[in-house]
Amino acid sequence: MTPTLLIHGGAGTLRRDELGPVREAAHHEALAAIARAGQRLLAQGASALDVVVEAVRLLEECPLFNAGKGAVYTTAGTHELDASVMDGPTQAAGAVTCVSRTRNPVLAAREVLRRSPHLLFASAAADALAEQWGLEMVAPDWFGTPERLAQWQRTQTPTLDHDAARMGTVGAVALDVEGRLAAATSTGGMTAKAPGRVGDTPLIGAGCWADARVAVSCTGTGEAFIRICAAHDVAARVAYGGAPLAEAAHAVVHEGLPSVGGTGGLIALAADGRMALPIHSAGMYRAVARVGAPVWTAIYADEGLPPATDS
Ligand code: ASP
Repeated sequence: MTPTLLIHGGAGTLRRDELGPVREAAHHEALAAIARAGQRLLAQGASALDVVVEAVRLLEECPLFNAGKGAVYTTAGTHELDASVMDGPTQAAGAVTCVSRTRNPVLAAREVLRRSPHLLFASAAADALAEQWGLEMVAPDWFGTPERLAQWQRTQTPTLDHDAARMGTVGAVALDVEGRLAAATSTGGMTAKAPGRVGDTPLIGAGCWADARVAVSCTGTGEAFIRICAAHDVAARVAYGGAPLAEAAHAVVHEGLPSVGGTGGLIALAADGRMALPIHSAGMYRAVARVGAPVWTAIYADEGLPPATDS
């Protein structure tokens, strides 16, 4: 079993002529650095759960992506962040939605998983719990960046972040040396979303899923992912239908998602190490790190899969 980490930084209308070589290089570098950090942890024997949480924390800290620092604004000019995490072997999960003071929402989701009998906490109560659990809190305007502010001033209709500004939601799936899977997803949500809106990211089964066979993290138009229970649908097609992972993931993204008007993509990993990264949009920031192999990064849909991938 080769321990493996897949990460994504959001899917959307990513065009070569708009993004340009400088921004492309910055994204490749950020993805590669974060994938390598996760790869090192996997090589040291870290659990899949620890690795996805750390990879997503690093993605939240990177202002290039729409999660944590660099999150998009709501129509009210505020930030409301969502995150979730799920452990494959136990199917234990934790999530937070509409937090605005917790620096790393994925850490709050992890603490919910670890400490609470409940699974999903919202808004001020979720921030208060995170604070009580000793997580770092920030002022609500800490998440903003000048680029995000300019984007908010331009866009007042709900948009997929990457369609408006070529940056996106983040996620990770991992398989560790003991064959355990885990998934985590984190987002600022859709650009110019209404205050209080909840997307797929904090909803287990929609934007995030992990069980003993499959781990999935999604990005795209959240409402569509919720309507098709996208992440769980990948796992269900494998579990009940016996579909190979790539076929299951392809059907969800290229048939299920467009059938309800959605766009986006997902990353998925199976317990046998097979992976799938289907995209129903022009691109998805993504990286693959297998222990003992070079890290692979890509942006556009036509870049396909890393060398030596069989799915
Ligand atoms: N799925 C996220 C949401 O709807 C957005 C994204 O993936 O960019 O909140």
